[in-house]
Formats: sequence, C-alpha cells, structure tokens
Amino acid sequence: MAYETIVIGAGVIGSAIALRLAQAGQKTLVLEKSIPGAEASSAAAGILGPQIEGNGPDPLLRLGLESREAYPALAEELRELSGVDVGFERCGLLSVAMEGEDLGPWETRLAWQREAGLEVERLSGREVRELEPELSDRVTLALLFAREGRVDPRALARALPRAAERAGAHFRSARVRRIAVEGGRAVGVDVEEERISAANVVVAAGAWTGLVEGLPLPEGTIEPLRGQMVELAREDLRLRRIVFSSRGYVVPRAPGVVVAGSTMERAGFDKRVTAEGALRILGHAVETIPALQQAEPRALWAGLRPFPRDGLPLIGATEVEGLYLCSGHHRNGILLTPVSAALLARAVLEGKEPAELAPFSPRRFSAP
Ligand SMILES: Cc1cc2nc3c(=O)[nH]c(=O)nc-3n(C[C@H](O)[C@H](O)[C@H](O)COP(=O)(O)OP(=O)(O)OC[C@H]3O[C@@H](n4cnc5c(N)ncnc54)[C@H](O)[C@@H]3O)c2cc1C
Repeated sequence: MAYETIVIGAGVIGSAIALRLAQAGQKTLVLEKSIPGAEASSAAAGILGPQIEGNGPDPLLRLGLESREAYPALAEELRELSGVDVGFERCGLLSVAMEGEDLGPWETRLAWQREAGLEVERLSGREVRELEPELSDRVTLALLFAREGRVDPRALARALPRAAERAGAHFRSARVRRIAVEGGRAVGVDVEEERISAANVVVAAGAWTGLVEGLPLPEGTIEPLRGQMVELAREDLRLRRIVFSSRGYVVPRAPGVVVAGSTMERAGFDKRVTAEGALRILGHAVETIPALQQAEPRALWAGLRPFPRDGLPLIGATEVEGLYLCSGHHRNGILLTPVSAALLARAVLEGKEPAELAPFSPRRFSAP
C-alpha cells in the first residue's frame, strides 16, 4: 500500500497528527519502535498549565493557551471516537510560596499576567488554606490560576492511537533507522532491511528524534531530559487543585491519589528512577502537603522529555521537501498536543505552514 504520510512515533504528538491526517482522508502510517504511548506521554503528570509554565506574553504562551482551551472539545471527541475518558478537568492550579521565600517571582508573574489580561488571583496563606485545607501552614502566599487543568496522560496516550486507527490510520511496530531522501525530497523511511515509501514524513519521535538519521538538524538540538515521578495514595486526602511550589508539584489524579514530581536530569537515555530523585520529590510533596507523610507511595517511574536546545518546540517543515518535524515539546507536550498536531497536519495537508508556526520552525536551526 502506498502511503501519503508516514509518522514516526506513536506518542501523543504522533498519534494526534495521525488522527488529524486520517480524518482528512490521507493514507497514513504510524511507525512505533515501542508500545504506542508508552514513553514520555505515559510518564507525564498531565498538567495543562500554560500560565504556570509561561515566562511572558510570547508565542509559546499563546500556543499553550490555545491548546488548553482546545481540551474540552478534544476530550469529548476522543470519548466518542475511542470510548476512553481522558480525565480532563479544569481543576485550577495554585502556585504557592513557602515561608522565607522571596516573593519577587510571584509578584512578577502576577503583574505580567494581569497586564496580558489573563485570569489570576492573589491569595494570602489563610485564604488559600480555606480553599485547600491540606496545604502547609508554611504557605504564605498563592496565585490561583482557575483556568488551568489536568488530563490523565495514560488515558490520553491510549485514546489517541485508538481514535487514529478508527479514523483509518495504520499502526505498525518498527524502528525507523533513517529518512529516505532522493533529489532533496523525502521519499519514505528505512526500517530494518525495508524501505517504506510515502510522499511525506513527519518525525514525532520525542526524546529520540536526534537518533533518526537523515534529519537536517545539528547534533544536540533535541536531548532527553529525565523526569522522575511518584504516585501517592491516602484515602482521606482532600486535594482538588494542582499545587506548584518552587521545588515541584502535586497533581490530584483520582480520589485519594496524587502524583508528585519531578526531576530535570541529563541522564542520556537512562529511564531508571533513583533514591535521590524520589527523596527530593517526596521531600517537596510532604513539605507543601504534610498529610502526604502518611500516604502510601504506590509507584515510581521516569520518562524522557524531548528537550529542545532553545526551549521552543520544533513544529513544521524542514528544508528537505516533504519532511516535517513535530518534536521538542519538553515539559508541555501533553498541553500542546491538540494545537501542535492540528497545525502540523494543516502544514502537511495544505503544503504551506500556518503563520502561527513561524516561531517554531525547525529551519531556525539550519546553517545560514
Ligand atoms: C516526568 C514527566 C512529567 C511530565 N509532565 C507533563 C505535564 O504535566 N504536562 C505536559 O504538558 N507535559 C508533561 N511532560 C512532557 C510530555 O510528556 C512530553 O512533552 C510529551 O509526552 C511528548 O510527546 P511525544 O509524543 O513527542 O513523545 P513520546 O511520548 O516520548 O513519544 C515518542 C515516540 O516515538 C517513538 N520513537 C522514537 N524513535 C523512533 C524510531 N526511530 N522509530 C519508531 N518509533 C520511534 C518512541 O518509542 C515514542 O513512543 C512530562 C514529561 C515527563 C517525562
């Protein structure tokens, strides 16, 4: 079968792109070296937090806000297409300052977000404990971002490939070695001893993007950055909102269950958890929510974020005709899935990049 587009990688990004292409009637093949969704996408905390992650009113913030607002419709669509509830909830997020901390960063964030017209509220320690009684007495101030939310990343990573398959995309287990290029144009990919042909190739290989041969990217453009996570359970724990401090976060996942994270480590492709990482995460979690001292640690895991050298994802066409990238989503790939996938799919379908993609063009890394 001749394919119009091959997508490399079946994480949330690749699967969402395949869904959009298949819905537009393209013959689409997704190649995955592992289990669809099993890598960074399943390791994530599931925070949809452009306001806590943003550093100012820039294109990445705009992309994040747009993507966050696309979630209710995506969740509904995925429920219909795949039968999976991805657990979207606009639960709100609290950014808390602990006793003794310099409040400058909180005041700065409050000021620029108000100026940008975003919804944010400043609460005293007493006020925030009225909202979330489990918070430590040592919390002195909080910013409440009521529009931030969460999703269950494992459910999302299951739902997207299923929905894409039902829309007509094919999935195959194979590791892509190299992009096949002839006369300056992508003509397919090489897997093991076989060449699979297609008019377009989209690389959505997450932290492994740099290992795919034939990409016009300098070495080190996208690196793996390890993040460890701990799941904790305490039946009587009442936490409704995501809690962020300067040292980590705690995310409610189910009644009486939270996930706490995370580390940011350069450990190559090593996905092991370490005692040091777990200690750091648990230390932060019990510092902000003391009731977690009596919680049961139920699981520890780590995943590899695709970290782009300049902090911005790479979304769009490369200088090789027919070759596209959608990678480097770093800490925000779950958040950015709806909009990244929709924009990239438009670029492939229309052969022309939407203007919003200009700041994220992979061609910014090309030699002048
Ligand atoms: C601990 C942790 C917490 C996080 N928390 C959040 C969060 O709260 N909110 C948020 O928005 N984001 C979060 N992220 C980031 C988010 O998980 C990632 O940005 C996102 O999952 C990236 O999706 P992806 O599809 O690009 O990558 P992946 O899910 O890693 O998928 C890439 C896929 O490509 C496959 N692949 C690679 N190379 C090849 C090849 N040569 N051939 C075939 N297949 C290949 C891989 O096997 C993999 O399945 C977190 C990440 C981690 C690790």
